[in-house]
Amino acid sequence: MKLPGHPHVRYRGADLVVDDCVVADLARRFGTPLYVYSRRAMLASLADYRRALAGRNHLLCYAMKANSNLAVLQVFAEAGCGFDIVSGGELERVLAVGVDPARIVFSGVGKTRSEMRRALDAGVLSFNVESDPELDVLSEVAAAAGKVARISLRINPDVDPQTHPYISTGLKANKFGIAHAHAVDTYRRAAALPGLRVVGIDCHIGSQITAVDPYLDAVDRLLDLVEAIESHGIAIEHVDIGGGLGITYANEEPPSAELLMKSVLGRLDARGHGQRKLVLEPGRSLVGNAGVLASEVLYLKPGDEKNFCIVDAAMNDMIRPTLYGAWMGIVECTRDAARPAFRADVVGPVCESGDWLGRDRELAVQPGDFVAVLSAGAYGMAAASNYNTRGRPAEVMVDGSDVWLIRERESTADQMRGEHLLPVR
Ligand SMILES: *Cc1c(COP(=O)(O)O)cnc(C)c1O
Repeated sequence: MKLPGHPHVRYRGADLVVDDCVVADLARRFGTPLYVYSRRAMLASLADYRRALAGRNHLLCYAMKANSNLAVLQVFAEAGCGFDIVSGGELERVLAVGVDPARIVFSGVGKTRSEMRRALDAGVLSFNVESDPELDVLSEVAAAAGKVARISLRINPDVDPQTHPYISTGLKANKFGIAHAHAVDTYRRAAALPGLRVVGIDCHIGSQITAVDPYLDAVDRLLDLVEAIESHGIAIEHVDIGGGLGITYANEEPPSAELLMKSVLGRLDARGHGQRKLVLEPGRSLVGNAGVLASEVLYLKPGDEKNFCIVDAAMNDMIRPTLYGAWMGIVECTRDAARPAFRADVVGPVCESGDWLGRDRELAVQPGDFVAVLSAGAYGMAAASNYNTRGRPAEVMVDGSDVWLIRERESTADQMRGEHLLPVR
């Protein structure tokens, strides 16, 4: 049985499988909570983008903050992707898997001088600069190092992506980017600074976007600026439209990556910018539905007002539900028609009322059974914490029936490493 939006996660008889691997078997073998990712699913999502981009001047940069496990990075690096990074730590991760720095764009509103210095030494394709003062600091850092920083300005196009307010980033009220109205002036200032060379323009309007129109609006807003900036003699080599394409968590019907790309390329062509290099920064749409989070049911706790299904995964392992009120599918790893269904909030062991993974779900489970949170490949493990001194989950990658452990479960000793007691009094 297929699960909508999850071509690589399905039921084979009673068993939930990722590719050809039975999730309950993986849960028994590696313990829970356990993240399971399908390499095939990741590559299939990438292929979706590439079908439309073939033969076009482009660079697809995986926005690695969605899932930064080294093996996940390796999958995209081997497939020839570039990377969108947002910190010095992410830079070290991509360098560790041997990525060519000329395929890295560096985003983020708060780059530190040392992060800038390291990225300059590595030779990243572009710093996506988000403010006037950042331009000055970057120019200073580059000049002091005897280097020239290639830059793009992140424009806030002020378009509404029609998504959750916490994940809209291209509205005037957001902290991100440089206001469209000031962009030409800022480009002129940037072009005159000694340590900088203008190479591009970028935006990123939000996340979990399920319509094409906001992208086309953003492309138009960027191209208007490209034309204005170039009329001042400043060349723009690439146009970076960011990421943000949504996935199916419940019944969303986002456009396919192929359709989105065709529409964007069509707009570039229609405006006479077809030869310009297009840069993309997709995150969620490449990895989100490639992963599930498996968890063991600990207790069924009936209540007067509500029932609770207490599982061993919690908000520290998967924060999306409580952070954004996000709805994520939760399903039995083994379906058993003989089990009675129990309607309950699915919650974890963390001492917070906000520790929930799903509300009012029907699950036919008993303690000791496994459930899986679907669509957990993006912004799951990447945002996991140690709250309540919980070790972060293990992660496995599967491909067909092959399985590899790609991150060991974090031990308590791992967590305490680096902490120090006070001197004895
Ligand atoms: C988070 C982010 C992305 C990726 O967003 P998705 O919604 O995961 O595709 C791309 N670019 C920037 C600058 C980001 O901050």
